[in-house]
Amino acid sequence: MSVNLSNYYVEGEEIADSSAPETPLNEMWDKRRFDAKLVSPNNRRKRTVIIVGTGLGGGSAAATLGEAGYHVKSFCYQDSPRRAHSIAAQGGINAAKNYRNDGDSIRRLFYDTVKGGDYRSRESNSWRLAQISTEIIDQCVAQGVPFAREYGGLLDNRSFGGVQVSRTFYARGQTGQQLLLGAYQALERQIGAGNVEMHTRHEMLDLIVVDGRARGIVVRDMVTGEIETHTADVVVLGTGGYGNVYFLSSNAMGCNATATWRSHRRGAYFANPCYTQIHPTCIPVSGDYQSKLTLMSESLRNDGRIWVPKEGGDDRHPREIPDEERDYFLERRYPAFGNLVPRDVASRAAKQVCDEGRGVGPGGRGVFLDFAEAIERLGTDAVARKYGNLFEMYEQITGENPWEVPMRIYPAVHYTMGGLWVDYDLESTIPGLFVIGEANFSDHGANRLGASALMQALSDGYFVLNASVSNYLADHNDLEEVPHDHPAVTEAVDAVKQRISTLLSINGSRTVDSFHRDLGHIVWEYCGMERTEEGLVKAIDLIRELREEFWRDVKVTGINEELNQSLEKAGRVADFFELAELMCIDALHRDESCGAHFRAEHQTEDGEALRDDENFAYVGAWEFGGVGFDSKPVLHKEQLEYHEIQMKQRSYK
Ligand SMILES: Cc1cc2nc3c(=O)[nH]c(=O)nc-3n(C[C@H](O)[C@H](O)[C@H](O)COP(=O)(O)OP(=O)(O)OC[C@H]3O[C@@H](n4cnc5c(N)ncnc54)[C@H](O)[C@@H]3O)c2cc1C
Repeated sequence: MSVNLSNYYVEGEEIADSSAPETPLNEMWDKRRFDAKLVSPNNRRKRTVIIVGTGLGGGSAAATLGEAGYHVKSFCYQDSPRRAHSIAAQGGINAAKNYRNDGDSIRRLFYDTVKGGDYRSRESNSWRLAQISTEIIDQCVAQGVPFAREYGGLLDNRSFGGVQVSRTFYARGQTGQQLLLGAYQALERQIGAGNVEMHTRHEMLDLIVVDGRARGIVVRDMVTGEIETHTADVVVLGTGGYGNVYFLSSNAMGCNATATWRSHRRGAYFANPCYTQIHPTCIPVSGDYQSKLTLMSESLRNDGRIWVPKEGGDDRHPREIPDEERDYFLERRYPAFGNLVPRDVASRAAKQVCDEGRGVGPGGRGVFLDFAEAIERLGTDAVARKYGNLFEMYEQITGENPWEVPMRIYPAVHYTMGGLWVDYDLESTIPGLFVIGEANFSDHGANRLGASALMQALSDGYFVLNASVSNYLADHNDLEEVPHDHPAVTEAVDAVKQRISTLLSINGSRTVDSFHRDLGHIVWEYCGMERTEEGLVKAIDLIRELREEFWRDVKVTGINEELNQSLEKAGRVADFFELAELMCIDALHRDESCGAHFRAEHQTEDGEALRDDENFAYVGAWEFGGVGFDSKPVLHKEQLEYHEIQMKQRSYK
């Protein structure tokens, strides 16, 4: 490494997760749950819990804590809780039920998760996730979630990448929608019962911290522009991931990092921000004016075969290219897993064949996903039953009929493994601030396996948080109410108002979107699928220049006291600038390749990620260091230890 890293960050003390009990892994969660203190039913209604987010994480958490009898205040920026981005999830949700009797078990799901994450996740969390996975399915079935069933009536399963068993439960290509409807109905029931107060179209713009504890939030009513404060005993963030920092991603347009970033600025550490997942099966970019990318579910890789022509520049119709002139590159390189290698591996392989000039479609940035063989083997009806709505969606977007020509796909930004650092109890470094779902740095290490995000969001929301919150509240039963004129409250409100007025007063010449698009280009180019030291150093400079220009020349139209999307976006993009810089610093300091973080300088002879366990087997948790260009974030390392699994070079061959 030639760059002087001390120009970019300073190193602080190591941190550790002290909340996981010291017991064998398979007893850990039972012990923690039993040891967690309880709040008696009579006292629960006296305690207020704010939950920001109504996706599978926040929605299930609000329903569960409402059902338990707490006074819950739930917030989302959409007009209905059921429009949270989780609704878009297509492919499925994992659970180690072993219904197929194909060798699955909690241990195997745990093993697949840790290996899939390239040995950069905590053993304790990954085990708990695998253990709870089986309960989630029972919970959702009891709610009436219509999972696909086999002829005999049993729940059906399919396979996702990085595994050799079938453990993914699904509801056609609408699994997230059906799961969210389950959580939403449970939430609505609690709203009806008066246990949950619902605040839609309210955007959290700051966290209120009193005496070092999270005690409330500042929100903007997105219809009237009014700035409100809400106080509570506990604050929970289930506000989703930050993939939209890249501008183009498979995420819903509104997804943003403001809640987590504002909390970071108030003291919550941000962990592993450079771990961002690029999904291999998205519809390729089609032009400069596009603002969104569409995912084609990973489930398609169960039956679709991925290939490119063996020769570059072969522009024959795909059906005219004979089999022996095709390169089924995943099946060739990874015979044991074939098209079902993990996402990071499949994405890089697709990029490599396109870099070699063998990509297909406009600009050569695409590979084929072909169902001809599956249609012949299974028949049209069977394929339609499994993937019908995905085929329709593809045709509506591209105008090409995937029953007749192979789909064209290319990797795109999809999910963020990084997020706010939490301990085993899901508590951040600010006491009383809990973080769940995609918003926390999660259980997935440097790469998430398909169908494990829904599992994690629901595990956190339905099962883990309840125990953590009750334990915290039992330990802190003397928290006094925070008056609305408390200095910490007025300081946070003033800061929010000041920022809004600054954004509105710049009145420059460039739109918010044009800045966001340029920022996205930089991050995609230098901190996307492949990173280098030189590129990251350049990216940090470019981001700083663009951020400076943003605060000098952005044009935010309208006023605060109205529905103002330009203002909403401006605040979010301003936060993306700061986050993007931290992502690049994290990627620069992590001088190894692991999972989705691929540093071109560190690869095996076969082009696989080459880890450096001696120096980097830790979680990188960053403390906010200020926003001035000479301010530096502080790195705190949490060392990762493996007792149940031996760390080795990942192989899917
Ligand atoms: C197209 C697509 C398909 C996917 N398919 C799958 C799949 O098949 N299987 C799988 O396991 N995973 C899948 N994923 C990933 C998975 O959907 C997400 O990781 C998961 O749904 C995130 O849930 P969440 O509850 O953490 O956040 P979200 O569902 O993103 O919810 C965030 C909530 O926070 C609220 N919010 C955010 N910021 C604020 C703020 N400042 N103020 C107020 N409210 C705020 C929003 O209003 C929303 O209610 C997919 C992702 C995409 C993009």
